[in-house]
Amino acid sequence: MSDTYTRPIPQADEESREFYDGARRHELMLMRCKDCRAWRLPSRPRCPDCWSTDTAWEKASGRGTLYSFGVMHQKFPGFSEDGPYHYAIVELEEGPRIVSNVVGVPDDEIRVDMPLVAYFDDVSDDTTLVRFMSDKS
Ligand SMILES: [Zn+2]
Repeated sequence: MSDTYTRPIPQADEESREFYDGARRHELMLMRCKDCRAWRLPSRPRCPDCWSTDTAWEKASGRGTLYSFGVMHQKFPGFSEDGPYHYAIVELEEGPRIVSNVVGVPDDEIRVDMPLVAYFDDVSDDTTLVRFMSDKS
């Protein structure tokens, strides 16, 4: 855990609080429809598949594959101390896609469809960000 994290931190709202609370527990939490069982991300009150409002939060596996990525070289305010980093769209095992980062994979080894697993980055005492790393299991 770092006391010196200075980059912008996402602020949970009513719809995303359970996601960020789960991240602090090192669990990837997603909304799931209690009627048709579809997982969804981002969270929203009504199921986009069957329109049900009967919803629960469930723990996802944390596994997925890299759907798309880019290597960011531009130094945006707040990120100027970062070297090139990978921003990514990860297709989760449960189906939804999440925008995140891939960490710990060299630029010449990152590739679409590579297996990934969630990595819970405790950036401050009360904030954990969900990133992904190579899943070698
Ligand atoms: Zn549904």
